[in-house]
Amino acid sequence: MDHKLIDILVCPSCKGELQYNQKAQELICRFDKLAYPIHDDIPVMLEEQARKVSSEELD
Ligand SMILES: [Zn+2]
Repeated sequence: MDHKLIDILVCPSCKGELQYNQKAQELICRFDKLAYPIHDDIPVMLEEQARKVSSEELD
């Protein structure tokens, strides 16, 4: 995925910055503990589509 695109993307919920997980193809918001999926290089920035992540997963 284009890193310039990641730089401009923010969490739709808290407007915070996102962390790109290349392996899982997810964009993670550490504040909300949500992982937004990336389908075919297109980030799905919808809270309804996001996966809850556990604290253990964040570190
Ligand atoms: Zn957030």
